[in-house]
Amino acid sequence: MSEKVESIIKKDLSTEDINKLIFEYKGEIDLINKKIEEIQNNCRHSEHEIKSIGMGPVKVRKICKACGYDLGYPSKDELGKAGY
Ligand SMILES: [Zn+2]
Repeated sequence: MSEKVESIIKKDLSTEDINKLIFEYKGEIDLINKKIEEIQNNCRHSEHEIKSIGMGPVKVRKICKACGYDLGYPSKDELGKAGY
């Protein structure tokens, strides 16, 4: 897919072309996100890890190791085990 993108962005594109491309790629993103969602829905999230997300004040979340699904805030116990 990256080759396709490179070859396209070298050309001079009209507003319409750009609009069409963005629309197409956003459609692809939607499709991919749906696939990810489907996989996450089928995952049993049996293993998870505590991860800090974002910058600034430390925010930690419980993330499935397999599919990356956000399982919410960890408990105090889980935080302690993770070294926070
Ligand atoms: Zn999972």
